Amino acid sequence: MKVLESRPTIEGAGVNLKRVFGYYEVPQFDPFLLLDHFGSDNPADYLAGFPWHPHRGIETVTYMISGEVEHGDSIGNKGVIKSGDVQWMTAGGGIIHQEMPKRFEGFMRGFQLWVNLPSSQKMMGPRYRDIRSDQIPEVTAEPGVKVKIVSGEMLNTKGPVQDLVIDIEYFDVSIEPDASFTHKLKDGFNAFCYVFEGLGNFQNEKISREHAVLFKGVDSVKVESGKTPLRYLFVSGKPIGEPVAWRGPIVMNTQEELGLAFYEYRNGTFIK
Ligand code: MN
Repeated sequence: MKVLESRPTIEGAGVNLKRVFGYYEVPQFDPFLLLDHFGSDNPADYLAGFPWHPHRGIETVTYMISGEVEHGDSIGNKGVIKSGDVQWMTAGGGIIHQEMPKRFEGFMRGFQLWVNLPSSQKMMGPRYRDIRSDQIPEVTAEPGVKVKIVSGEMLNTKGPVQDLVIDIEYFDVSIEPDASFTHKLKDGFNAFCYVFEGLGNFQNEKISREHAVLFKGVDSVKVESGKTPLRYLFVSGKPIGEPVAWRGPIVMNTQEELGLAFYEYRNGTFIK
């Protein structure tokens, strides 16, 4: 078990966000590469957005708790990710896109997770899945425990994101005061929780807001709330166990593949 505090970072064209884990934590979170947490009631923190940029070799999963992000890409998709929506994007062999948060009344909050792809799938065709909030089922896992299922399965309810390259559970868990929740992990999976409201005991260790806790080699994760409501992301995935070569928005297995990706981006041959 390892606890990390998210740290202020500037990304994109000048977005103030919190990085929960990233480059320096590879390979501990395998198959996950990065988690960013956006949260601000000041549009100046996020309006600069993430103008046109490429991705290759990964998936990016954007989950907006509140707020709106307008997006567009090189394969002709465009739209708005709204409060409660998820966008699961598989960059595969290459996509060029932009992600621009819109001015939002109140507190804008969301997450972006990067999921690595195995070498055999890094150059797969890109795909998008846009999931509206009303397509995400919520189950009562235990008394006082509500779980929104983005991917994975609980109590015979499956999340809308299926047929993933890497088997992943992505849950948004809300626990009322004085309740507890034990979730069994899949064999050999890495899992982490990221608390974004309240605090709780995770395997008997107190974890507060804006902290992540990583679990490796445990059978199950037991979470108990205290006197206040607790809300966190629970994400688990099967490790890939391959070398990681990472520069900016592109993650491959070797330096040669990275070099080729940037060469192709400069030459206009990035998109396959
Ligand atoms: Mn992006």
